[in-house]
Amino acid sequence: MPPRLVQAAADLFLPLRCAGCGAFDTALCGPCEASLQPATGQGRCRHCSARWDGADFCPRCFHLQHLAGVRAAFEMAGPARKLVHDLKYRYYRAIAPVMGRLLTEALPGLSFDACFVVPLHRSRLRERGFNQSELLLRNTPLPQPSPGLARVRRTDRQVGQRIAERRTNVAGAFVYAGPSLSGQSVALIDDVVTTGATVHECALVLRDAGAREVWAVAFARASYEPATTAPIDD
Ligand SMILES: [Zn+2]
Ligand SMILES: [Zn+2]
Repeated sequence: MPPRLVQAAADLFLPLRCAGCGAFDTALCGPCEASLQPATGQGRCRHCSARWDGADFCPRCFHLQHLAGVRAAFEMAGPARKLVHDLKYRYYRAIAPVMGRLLTEALPGLSFDACFVVPLHRSRLRERGFNQSELLLRNTPLPQPSPGLARVRRTDRQVGQRIAERRTNVAGAFVYAGPSLSGQSVALIDDVVTTGATVHECALVLRDAGAREVWAVAFARASYEPATTAPIDD
């Protein structure tokens, strides 16, 4: 049986457990929710929300010039990491409403003409059964997913890749075949942004379709250290 069907069956019979500590009857208990580390405010790059203690912009923003910026709710750590993993790899859909609520509360005042989700290749969509970023977006009050952005090439899993490798990996992987986005402010929703290579490549094709600005909005921001093994991005 494919893993997603095993998990779907398990969801029916297993009680809801906290993604952080395993407490029963909640997708995320109060103490675990309180321990989430915001990816906003002091000690963050103003452009890409990565951890950064210097003035204004971090040096890695050089790689993200087609994005108006990255807005992320939480640092990819602790319960935030577990939520992202559970949704993406354990196919645990029951936590999507909680993640949507947390994202909405952490990033108040977001406003866009249209929202897109980072598309999965159809083979991965078949494997997983859903797009985790779409599920996240559907649980927020943001504009619901616009069509037209597609992944035309299955990319390698990006775990452990450096920035340059990730950029090569996603180059040309996306196309946009929807209505003109002329003058629009649009957002790309993703569960986690690490190097930003994937959202940046999507932003490129949306800018080509006329978008005035393209923001990335993520549940979690993994602050990337090129010298270490990177966390998940794709
Ligand atoms: Zn807990
Ligand atoms: Zn930055």
